[in-house]
Amino acid sequence: MISYTEYLVFNTRNRRDYINITADVEKALDKSGVREGLCLVSAMHITAGVYVNDAESGLIADIDEWADRLAPLGPDYRHHRTGEDNGDAHLKNLLIGSQVVLPVTEGKFDFGPWQQVYYAEFDGKRRKRVIVKIIGE
Ligand code: ZN
Repeated sequence: MISYTEYLVFNTRNRRDYINITADVEKALDKSGVREGLCLVSAMHITAGVYVNDAESGLIADIDEWADRLAPLGPDYRHHRTGEDNGDAHLKNLLIGSQVVLPVTEGKFDFGPWQQVYYAEFDGKRRKRVIVKIIGE
């Protein structure tokens, strides 16, 4: 069995950002040599997420508005009593989810139509990482 690990590093200019990481994850899969298996893509932070969806700019704006409507950037979270200001980012992480598992078939991701992998940053402007762990044969 092959096990391959890679870390993607982000340092976004904006507090919130949505980055298509499909090509990065595909490169990791090529390097792994895995032909049949699974690939875990997981944000290593509690204020960022990873999701699979369409690479359509209108949808990305909709996702951002939806997450901000449910967990608005605001000063009145109990979490802020610790001195932090990112209560919204923790809640947005729970909405979007931290990680995805991608199926690998015949050396390629077995994506459905329009499926793309995204890194969702909710509290950026600092160094953050995503782990890519591929297992299989
Ligand atoms: Zn926090």
